[in-house]
Amino acid sequence: MTDDAAAAPTCLARPLPGPGDDRAGGCAAARAVDGRPLHAAALKFFWGPMDCGKSTMALQMNYNHGRQGRRGLVTTRIDRSLGPQVTTRIGLAHSAIEVTDALDLRDLVRDAWAEGVRVDYLICDEASFYNLEHIEQMAELVDNYDVDVYAFGLATDFRSCLFPAAQRLFELADEVARIQVEVLCWCGREGLLNARVVDGRVVREGEQVVIGDTVDTADVRYQVLCRRHYRSGDLGPRG
Ligand SMILES: [Zn+2]
Repeated sequence: MTDDAAAAPTCLARPLPGPGDDRAGGCAAARAVDGRPLHAAALKFFWGPMDCGKSTMALQMNYNHGRQGRRGLVTTRIDRSLGPQVTTRIGLAHSAIEVTDALDLRDLVRDAWAEGVRVDYLICDEASFYNLEHIEQMAELVDNYDVDVYAFGLATDFRSCLFPAAQRLFELADEVARIQVEVLCWCGREGLLNARVVDGRVVREGEQVVIGDTVDTADVRYQVLCRRHYRSGDLGPRG
């Protein structure tokens, strides 16, 4: 920490940066002892298996920040509703911007700013399905634009391997948190892995992303299992 930084006034304002602006022209932010600005934005990744309440938490976080007067955008990809919204298994829904390969999250924020819409944060649901460029864009939004990014998603696919986007989030995020709402395997152990079930059997090969649900009637469905039963492929008495 420099003397200059220590003497700088606390400033809560967020000047609007333009393309290429590294905020050097913005107001001097107060700094913590490690030299980081006290109001530094952060990239946070919240992960957990299917059915653990990720989307519910995403919408709750959006609501909480809104109550504090902050403004954000909600994005999603391949929500279970297959529409541009975040839906939750407990019945909540919120309109959302659908993330496509062509979408640049930085442009999304800059365009909003250009229209006079404040964006303090992004809530990125189903982030495991985003591409790697999107994750880099999230980091840039945090570092260069002071926008908080809260990403929610699965860590691993039906083969129990990390999704590429999730891996990149683990590598880049300021903070990673496993969502604490536990999903139980049929045996009562903590559910950890997302098994893909076709015709009543656990499959371990195929496309990384295949739309399904966790209801029993779906052609392709997913069932959260403990590691032991994921490995043995045992879906339990109702499987
Ligand atoms: Zn089990």
